Amino acid sequence: MLTRRLEQRPDGRTTVMISGVIDATADLERLLGDLDGNLALDLSGVQRINSIGVHRWIATIEELTAHRRVTVEAVPYTVGMQANYVANFFGRAEVLSCLAPYACHHCDTSDALLIHRDEVTLRAPTRWCPTCKRELDFDELDGYLDFLVRPRP
Ligand SMILES: [Zn+2]
Repeated sequence: MLTRRLEQRPDGRTTVMISGVIDATADLERLLGDLDGNLALDLSGVQRINSIGVHRWIATIEELTAHRRVTVEAVPYTVGMQANYVANFFGRAEVLSCLAPYACHHCDTSDALLIHRDEVTLRAPTRWCPTCKRELDFDELDGYLDFLVRPRP
């Protein structure tokens, strides 16, 4: 089940918060097809995407981003992993941020933290453990962030 929530931004753009699972049952055309103007897609609520979902997503996003400005924000890990395998995964959209996996091996905790494209140099930005205040370990290969920093097609 895939749902959306819309919010108007002061700059006139519409934020579209997408939540749920992107699979064979996801009707992305219906979910996004009626939207006008420039859009910001917030993907933080996407719990899972499978291979059929990826095909559906790419077809929809290609059309959605062809003639307007679309930004993508808070890409969760499940989507980021798929995006690294497909060059045109976000169509012509601009990817601004993602939820990246960090871990504290001292506290034995892990969390998905929001990082912005501008913060990424050759490696993931530094984050700190809220409990023990030590530096967190980025819990992936640095290459995981490729989808976030690669140039738009
Ligand atoms: Zn800690």
